[in-house]
Amino acid sequence: MLLISTYDVGRQPFGLASPAAWLKRAGCEVTCVDLSREKLDAAVISSAQLAAFYLPMHTATRLAMPVIGRLRAINSSLTIAAYGLYAPLNETLLREHGVSVVLGPEAEEDLVAWATGHPEGLPRHSLPRLAFIRPDRGGLPALDRYASLQMPDGSRKVVGATEATRGCKHRCRHCPIVPVYDGQFRVVPVAVVLADVRAQVAQGATHITFGDPDFFNGPTHARKLIEALHAEFPTLTYDAIIKVEHLLQHRELLPLLVRTGCLFVTSAVESVDDEVLAKLEKGHTRADFIAAATLCRDAGLTLIPTFVAFTPWTTLDGYRDLQEVVEALGLTSHVSPIQWGIRLLVTWQSRLLELDDIRNVVGPFDQKTLTFPWRHPDPRVDALQQQMMALASVPRPRTEVPYLDEPWYC
Ligand code: SF4
Repeated sequence: MLLISTYDVGRQPFGLASPAAWLKRAGCEVTCVDLSREKLDAAVISSAQLAAFYLPMHTATRLAMPVIGRLRAINSSLTIAAYGLYAPLNETLLREHGVSVVLGPEAEEDLVAWATGHPEGLPRHSLPRLAFIRPDRGGLPALDRYASLQMPDGSRKVVGATEATRGCKHRCRHCPIVPVYDGQFRVVPVAVVLADVRAQVAQGATHITFGDPDFFNGPTHARKLIEALHAEFPTLTYDAIIKVEHLLQHRELLPLLVRTGCLFVTSAVESVDDEVLAKLEKGHTRADFIAAATLCRDAGLTLIPTFVAFTPWTTLDGYRDLQEVVEALGLTSHVSPIQWGIRLLVTWQSRLLELDDIRNVVGPFDQKTLTFPWRHPDPRVDALQQQMMALASVPRPRTEVPYLDEPWYC
């Protein structure tokens, strides 16, 4: 069985390592291929009986489409599955491309059922409660071939990645997690997370990125985990994603993050316009962002804000205001350049389509980009977005805060 990842933001894919462990435990012969770092030989394709594509995000799904075509051209008897957050979101398209089994992000048990010859009625449950086991990272490229952490002093850290929770208990309108998890999340036991970290430290990791959509969805779990992590690996550092609302609600945990080696927290601020934040149902206001940034600064915790700078509601004045707020908070050097050009993605089944404002500006679903394309009513805003994306692609040194050298991009 082939497990294939096309893109996972520069991380060694957890989404291959976890099913690989389940499948091997069930006696399957598994080959993991991470196409972001290695090639897939025609001989490997020819000899496989089953292939499953891991589709955790938009870009991964787009990149998978031509690869699915290549697999089918080389091995017409191959049965193909897709799993991960973006598989159910793009089920119709995937089936048109010859994918016969479409599973969600909690797919390990169903992948085992499929691979061991029980493909009836899959997925059995869209969000099963799995008994997680330690991922098997044996068949993946070495960690030093993935994105590394650039430190302000010029040194680099080898980065591992894992997940302490999956899904999210919130329902922000623009978030691709919502149509699938619908306000639910799953907790990976501390012992399993620690075992995965241990395996990656043995591979040379000195920093761990927690890929959870929100590390503080389960604050007690997070606290237990980082205390245990720091007790076992006192020099290991880590980063996590935490929403503004949770930074405020669980402010007492910020010093603990710093004490246990958290180098930075990424937070999806999205906008500083309260009307836009309300439309996105983001759960915070401009004032909340400013308060959270101040709390982080006072705790000595580096905050890396991310934005959806371009929406149909963006104005030129509003864009300037965003830059001014970020500058006034002393966070400009914390922001990855690509964040200044990010455009709202309207994906299949997106809750954004509930809004007249969005329905009025989107065109028909585009099978190439896997989005509903939209144009801004003011062409100057679209021109600015293109300019900012072009500027973001010009390499420039960033030295003040640690950052991953493959920026987050969905
Ligand atoms: S908090 Fe983050 S992960 Fe959760 S629904 Fe909102 S945008 Fe998505």
